[in-house]
Amino acid sequence: MTNSFKEISVQEINQVMQRSHTAFKAFQKKSIEEKSIFLDTIANEIEALGDTLIQKASEETNLPIARLTGERARTTGQLRMFANMLREGSWVEATIDTAIPERTPIPKPDLRKMLIPLGPVVVFGASNFPFAYSTAGGDTASALAAGCSVVVKAHPAHAQTSEMVYQAIKKAISSCNMPDDVFQHVHGTSFESGKALVQAEHTAAVGFTGSTAGGKALVDYSTQRKNPIPVFSEMGSINPVIFLPETLQNSSADLATQYANSITLGMGQFCTNPGLMLAVESPALHTFLDHLSNRIKEVQPAKMLHAGIHAAYEKKSHDALEQDGVTVVEQVSTPINDIEARPIIAQVSGQTFLANPILHEEVFGPYSLMVSCKDEQELITVLKSVSGQLTTTVMGTVHDLENHAQLVDLLPSMAGRILFNGAPTGVEVCASMVHGGPYPATTDSRFTAVGINAVKRWVRPVCYQNWPESLLPLALQNNNPLNIWRMVDNEWKK
Ligand code: NAP
Repeated sequence: MTNSFKEISVQEINQVMQRSHTAFKAFQKKSIEEKSIFLDTIANEIEALGDTLIQKASEETNLPIARLTGERARTTGQLRMFANMLREGSWVEATIDTAIPERTPIPKPDLRKMLIPLGPVVVFGASNFPFAYSTAGGDTASALAAGCSVVVKAHPAHAQTSEMVYQAIKKAISSCNMPDDVFQHVHGTSFESGKALVQAEHTAAVGFTGSTAGGKALVDYSTQRKNPIPVFSEMGSINPVIFLPETLQNSSADLATQYANSITLGMGQFCTNPGLMLAVESPALHTFLDHLSNRIKEVQPAKMLHAGIHAAYEKKSHDALEQDGVTVVEQVSTPINDIEARPIIAQVSGQTFLANPILHEEVFGPYSLMVSCKDEQELITVLKSVSGQLTTTVMGTVHDLENHAQLVDLLPSMAGRILFNGAPTGVEVCASMVHGGPYPATTDSRFTAVGINAVKRWVRPVCYQNWPESLLPLALQNNNPLNIWRMVDNEWKK
């Protein structure tokens, strides 16, 4: 992919990260309220770009206006959510254990812990979320909220949209009197620039959303550093959905409509797309597949995000359908133009799926594979063979769940979010959301990339021992000047 913006050189990247480091130090001196106003102002400035921004994003990504309007609202909502998190304040996890000088045989010291920012964060903009996971998206908003400076590598598939959002952030920097380089924006279409960003001396952490190969490569670059740094990559997921017998029997037509919509939503370009369906062989399963086939036929092919993603979809879906034992349930036959994608539903037996690792791979696009298993034991074996996931879903009645307790018990170990009778596409932005999961869904399953806890990726705890009261951060001072919830001598207190 090429664009008209100047490519950053490896030498310039070191200077960018040096400036980011300097800005990080200055940003730490800003008050909580100043940082909150800064996040709110970025949201306001993005909104002030109006329809021009939405139109540019639609031109660059082929995403419809309604979807992009919703995504912009999510993006500005996220920024304001983090501003409110800062004002509320308890996210720093202030924990105080007061001294017991008279304790024998050794006196207990005064210990006070809180979270502090890591330093400059590099964010790789995601192609499939030009707003919500790009320039001012969740990674940037959470890193700024943590108190980190940020350098975004624009995704080349929407470089102009990214540049417009950057200009909005620059206005917010200026009007809020923030350090100029607290946020920087670079363009690079070579892996060398990505590698140099991860390996620059002053980079303290990395956020990425994209391919498994890309996300894993960034971790490898980090481990080659003199001082490896955390890399939070959100990568592939096939999001298994298990259809249990009673619900298939009772509701196959409704399930088919729900799943046809979910599989083809945004032409399947969501990390939570249900790419794998599992069920035990039965007449009801055949009825469900007939309904699903009818619903899928009605879907019009639409353009994918960019030529690279389209080429990857064509290749990966073709490779999957070529495998022995894979049959096509439905492949939309409407002629396609340019970079449009045809939705596909395929089917395979449990035994064939277990024997063929190619079938376990993500096919990023409107594709889903039904694995029909001979019995519940085989279904459990198939589920256990699937790697770490962002989501796993069970479609069933309460009676179904009671009858499949062994299977249900497996689910929390597999994915970051487990759903009952829903579709995994659609990620709510709120404090209880977990958008993460065991490798290879992400490189660190302990964290979420969505919701306020996303901030935890960019901080580390520090403990002050016997520190003079006047030199302690406000969050740890005796009189609690920030009026935040704190754990004091094992009790929650304000
Ligand atoms: P990508 O190829 O992973 O690229 C994302 C960003 O990472 C780009 O800026 C890219 O740089 C950089 N990058 C990738 N590999 C790198 C490497 N080895 N070294 C340094 N930088 C590297 O993702 P994409 O362009 O968005 O889409 C490609 C595929 O990713 C899709 O077909 C799909 O399979 C997958 N994808 C998955 C998700 C998900 O959420 N699961 C989301 C989006 C995409 P360049 O610009 O220089 O290429």
